[in-house]
Amino acid sequence: MVRSLLLAALFLLAGVGGFASPEKWFEVAKAPRLANYRISAVLDWPGKRLEGRETITWRNGGEAPTSEFPLHLYLNAFKSPRSIFYKESRGRMAQPASPSSWGYCRLKSVKMGGEDLPGHFGEDETVYWVKLPRSVHPGDTIKVDIEWESLFPQIRMRSGYSASGDFLMAAQWFPKVGVYQKDRWVCSVYHAFTEFFSDFGVYDVELSVPNALMIAHSGTSVPQGGFDARRDPARKDHVVYVLHAEDIHDFAWAAMPRRAWGYKKFSWVRDHRETQIFLYYRAANIHNVERQFRALKAAMRQANEVLFPYPFPVFSVVDVPEDVDQMEYPTLVTAASKTFDPTGNRCGLEDTVIHEFAHQYFQGILASNEVEEAWLDEGFATWFTAKVLDQDFQGYYNSRRLHVGGSALAWWDYWADPTGDSILQPGYRMRDAAAYGRFAYSKPALVLNQLEAHLGRPVMEQVVAAYVKEMAFKHPTGRDFRRIAERVSGRDLGGFWRDHVEGSEVLDVVIERVHVRDSLDGGWKETAKGMFFAAPVPVSPGPQGSVTLQRRGGIQAPITLWVRLENRLEQRVVWDGQGRWATFEFDSPVVAAILDPDGNYPMLKDRLHASYTTKPVRRGLHYWAQIVWGAVMAVLQGIGLG
Ligand SMILES: [Zn+2]
Repeated sequence: MVRSLLLAALFLLAGVGGFASPEKWFEVAKAPRLANYRISAVLDWPGKRLEGRETITWRNGGEAPTSEFPLHLYLNAFKSPRSIFYKESRGRMAQPASPSSWGYCRLKSVKMGGEDLPGHFGEDETVYWVKLPRSVHPGDTIKVDIEWESLFPQIRMRSGYSASGDFLMAAQWFPKVGVYQKDRWVCSVYHAFTEFFSDFGVYDVELSVPNALMIAHSGTSVPQGGFDARRDPARKDHVVYVLHAEDIHDFAWAAMPRRAWGYKKFSWVRDHRETQIFLYYRAANIHNVERQFRALKAAMRQANEVLFPYPFPVFSVVDVPEDVDQMEYPTLVTAASKTFDPTGNRCGLEDTVIHEFAHQYFQGILASNEVEEAWLDEGFATWFTAKVLDQDFQGYYNSRRLHVGGSALAWWDYWADPTGDSILQPGYRMRDAAAYGRFAYSKPALVLNQLEAHLGRPVMEQVVAAYVKEMAFKHPTGRDFRRIAERVSGRDLGGFWRDHVEGSEVLDVVIERVHVRDSLDGGWKETAKGMFFAAPVPVSPGPQGSVTLQRRGGIQAPITLWVRLENRLEQRVVWDGQGRWATFEFDSPVVAAILDPDGNYPMLKDRLHASYTTKPVRRGLHYWAQIVWGAVMAVLQGIGLG
């Protein structure tokens, strides 16, 4: 990983403690290694073009034979306006004028045992279906040899070169096989609002790049004759990096001129295992490196406690230019920081690093299908990020009255349009980018908070620990999470799932009215002399109070109301929430009332209308302060994270 030839010796001395070596990470495979890649590629830096050869060693991990072999050719999303990605992005991809602003992935040959294999494109050119000469039975292994050429587009989503011309993000850069599950291939076209799904394997990658470039990459760099890279005998001024990774399901790298970029190396040691951490930065942003590392340490510590120790020997963060997406790949993430950031806004820097690191687990290791169930990676990553912010950054966005802690941003985002879409909607069927952010990121994070409140923190911790342990290096689904949560908690979560995961209704209960009524006596009375009228007058026990609760949302849930009375007594009552409203009477006027005083419902809409006091001036101040604060935070959040 060390990018300077001069520092190669240091790299060798340092070694990778606890791991076998840069060219062999694990004695025992952690994942079923179904899709293994041996790639050799040459980068034409001025032309932003790449020539590659690869051998995919693929094992049928399904339950039926197949004679097909679909390949993702993701860069064809940028080939023309006819791509599904382009159409679905609805203007998100501005129409670039110059041909070099577009990109493609062109297959030059696909062979097995020296024989050319025929094939055809799928729904669009981002998937190519290869026809195999024979059926591959479950457990059988084949080797497919591919030659291809990639032209990187100017970056619009995740992959390509920066407008500044001094940064290349090589993501989705090689032909990649789909996932064969049971008796069918899962190999979706590249959609605008969804990400990826693939099988685990071993990656051995040789990259020939100009020596003037520094590269950041997935995996470890295998030293070459005592150096970090060897000279490429076939190309002047090129060096060849030999890279290796095990039990990951994607491989990305970035290239940047050494003169404008630097990196710092850190070390993270837990249980006698060292993870080398590389933070790449643009020269102007060097002051942000320490902040990024601190955030990363906090995330790794939290992962160690509530998930499991980060299992890989390396992790890299690239502080990318502003037009490059913040995105996660196995052992490598991109996360931008700002050169001018006088307030040290954690929303832009710490939040992003922690979020992208969380993806090492949620999708990196728990390799759910991001195309179909985006909430399993984005929702869990958002939820995890809030936990780290609460724990190590004093709940920067915390608001006790909202009872949502570090999830305050998600809370504001969710309530902007809580019924607009569904968590279970695949990303590519969501209404737009805002809905994708809301129902793949924000609402799921709140639902996980709600589940924690429902089960109690200790049980929730057991649920999450069991889920990540059981589903690590597999392809979990939402059903797996529910099954494990029900088993560990011993509770039927059917109602919870219906209300919060499957449903689009909201939990919205308010204190609609607080009323005082005198105890009166008087009026018309019948006496021996006939009807007699006495003016009504207050009598003991004196004035009485009442509170009327109203359910404005569709979710019916039992909710507690706490009141303090004028006679100084406190009382708690529980409303079953079944009707639309209920009035509770008290012996004395109500001085203060709080709905959900224990914070059992982080998803309760309007906490500001869920409390009452007889001092309305203070309440008004609080109300507006929180509205303004929330609005400011929502703006800072921008359009969402990668
Ligand atoms: Zn994310």
